[in-house]
Amino acid sequence: MEAQIKKFYISTAIAYTSSKPHIGNTYEIVLADAIARYKRLTGYDVYFQTGTDEHGQKIEEKAKVNGKKPQEFVDEVALEVRRIWDIMNTDYDKFVRTTNPAHKEMVAKIFKRLYDQGDIYKGKYEGLYCTPCESYFTQSQLVDDKCPDCGRPVNRASEEAYFLKLSKYAERLEKYIEENPDFIQPESRRNESVNNFIKPGLQDLCVSRTSFDWGVPVSFDQDHVVYVWIDALSNYITFLGYDVDGNHNEEFKKYWPADVHLIGKDILRFHAIYWPIMLMALGLPLPKKVFGHPWLLSGDDKMSKSKGNIIYADDLVKYFGVDAVRYYLLHDIPFASDGIFTYDLLIERINSDLANTLGNLVNRTISMTNKYFNGIVVEPNVHEEIDNELIELVKSTPLKVEEKMNNYRVADALDEILEIFRRCNKYIDETMPWILAKDETKKDRLGTVLYNLLESIRQGTVLLQAFLPETAEKIFSQLNTENKHYDSLKEFNGLDVGIKVNEASPLFLRIDKEEKLKEIYGENNE
Ligand SMILES: [Zn+2]
Repeated sequence: MEAQIKKFYISTAIAYTSSKPHIGNTYEIVLADAIARYKRLTGYDVYFQTGTDEHGQKIEEKAKVNGKKPQEFVDEVALEVRRIWDIMNTDYDKFVRTTNPAHKEMVAKIFKRLYDQGDIYKGKYEGLYCTPCESYFTQSQLVDDKCPDCGRPVNRASEEAYFLKLSKYAERLEKYIEENPDFIQPESRRNESVNNFIKPGLQDLCVSRTSFDWGVPVSFDQDHVVYVWIDALSNYITFLGYDVDGNHNEEFKKYWPADVHLIGKDILRFHAIYWPIMLMALGLPLPKKVFGHPWLLSGDDKMSKSKGNIIYADDLVKYFGVDAVRYYLLHDIPFASDGIFTYDLLIERINSDLANTLGNLVNRTISMTNKYFNGIVVEPNVHEEIDNELIELVKSTPLKVEEKMNNYRVADALDEILEIFRRCNKYIDETMPWILAKDETKKDRLGTVLYNLLESIRQGTVLLQAFLPETAEKIFSQLNTENKHYDSLKEFNGLDVGIKVNEASPLFLRIDKEEKLKEIYGENNE
């Protein structure tokens, strides 16, 4: 029998190209990147897709305001999105753009197929329309007479339009969500989908527009363009080589269904309702999971005054370095509730976890190895009872990290790894290598203590490379080891005896909060 392929398909939502993405959008790509890197590390064949959503009325209007053609405008924003994804050191497999001709062609074919089979029909729409969201709502869906998604005012509008028969699939979808409790996660998002969207009754969805041109034309009725969400959601299959006539390419056959669509909670309705129904209508299996992550809120008053509360990833990386920003995003945004971003919190986190716990540990350990053994890693042959607790903790960590990552509890997984480094610092206090160094008869014991520290750091770093790849490389380089493989965590002997570690160099510098804030706000106020 053929061995089962461990494949893993993860996607982010595609970024809307109306403006440069801020740190909140950037959180999602970093989160997806850490999950993708972790899966690759643990032996999965990973396909990681991200990209840009480039059609719709809002973009057409924005381009006009900027005196540009829509294509010219989205080309620039898409480039900016890629630049930021690169600054964040994300390692995706494909960056997709919905203005791609092959994608557009397939979207038109999907629309036609759904029309031909009766799942899309022509009717007339009268309702309350939110222009920024490009969505119609009924009176009962409004919140305080405003758009339930963005809170902006809505206008009464009417047009001839095509509709997708959501009502036909509502019961089947509700049953599916009930029978597959992992399909929509976290649990609060699943309850929201059922109670807020399905239970009140699904109305057929208006899936074409005539008020603007910037979109995929309906092939059999050229006055209409396909609703931007039908276009955008299709990206998850079109760019993998889905073919509406069944001639899918190998990538699609291998990776679909997706293992997880990572999305912001604000677009849950589209991924938990419309997308599954589109897939049901096309006769395709549903993604295994839709994970609605929380938002990252800016909680710094000063920031809001000077910059309208918008924080950009490239500014943060300039001031703090990419891994400090990645660490904050991955470690400090809770699983299900919103996270807060402030410079104060970021600086505190860098100083405590990265400069102190991790940086200081690596620096001290490498320095002591150089000082006491000329950098040579020696045989650990004087074992003491006190070593067991450290070694057991290190050896039990991969499983704990795996359990957390399987549930997308990325912050908790990262903290399990930090626990190794915290325990190492405690072990230094317990064993006091500088005292051992004063007694020539304790030389072998000192070598063992240092081996235990170096190997614990190496094992922690093997796991850390999924989250902080640049920092992990620096640590491996200081340890002078190429043994970065997940398999090397099974035993506690992955660091070769006899190698010579390199010179210690600081991984993260302690930040003076006052100085740094002056640097940031000084520049912004210019
Ligand atoms: Zn709205």
